[in-house]
Amino acid sequence: MVATPAWPPRSLPRLFVEAALSEGAAVSVEGSGANYLANVLRLKAGDALLLFNGRDGEWLARIVEPGRKRVTLTIAQATREQETVPDLWLAFAPIKKGRVDWLVEKAVELGVARLLPVITERTIVRDLNLERMRSHIVEAAEQCGRTALATIEAPARFGDWLAARPAGRTLYFADETGGPPFGEAIRPGPATILVGPEGGFTPDEAARVRAAPGAVPVSLGPRILRAETAALAAVTAWMATAGDW
Ligand code: SAM
Repeated sequence: MVATPAWPPRSLPRLFVEAALSEGAAVSVEGSGANYLANVLRLKAGDALLLFNGRDGEWLARIVEPGRKRVTLTIAQATREQETVPDLWLAFAPIKKGRVDWLVEKAVELGVARLLPVITERTIVRDLNLERMRSHIVEAAEQCGRTALATIEAPARFGDWLAARPAGRTLYFADETGGPPFGEAIRPGPATILVGPEGGFTPDEAARVRAAPGAVPVSLGPRILRAETAALAAVTAWMATAGDW
């Protein structure tokens, strides 16, 4: 028996919209979204695509009017429930432009729920273009099939962030100076992974994290990883052990 191909085909274009989504609703897309649909994809009236807004799951939509500046659509039917994203946050010291963009994009694909830029003593990049980060988050979610968007907070000073952390979350502290193997330390439950900047943590910062409630220093192996490699290696290990892989 030939398996019926999954429907809707995963090849349908996927677009994030802010609008509420429900069966029969009319949605209009303007600006860059309209340009993408009308001028890049050259979609015509009747063509189908997938919409999601980060709240209401994913929906099949059809083009009604493919205007160059404004595209109107109608919502046909639900295609996927709103997902529950594994409760993993990634606290990271911002790194150079390009590398931080890559880190954010990969963290979204891997399933991170929340991104927390933390300014440590040796952090070189002190300001982060959150608008650019948010557009990477949306694009990565469109590409990888997420129905929930990851969120990114404004950069926080290390001490403030460490003190203000919510209770009940294990803080896996990626410590290049050593600790138990991460794979053996992971346990179920809400978690935050903390990764330092290219220059690493100062001894004082490392001591303060180690003393923090719920903190678990972990090793990511015998080699020194770049910050973005460490972040994604740790997220991967957590997702495979305590996440939704
Ligand atoms: N300047 C540090 C040094 O030379 O030892 C390296 C810092 S590393 C480029 C950036 C961050 O990645 C570290 O602060 C740590 O959070 C994480 N990291 C890199 N390799 C690691 C490892 N083998 N185990 C645990 N964490 C690691």
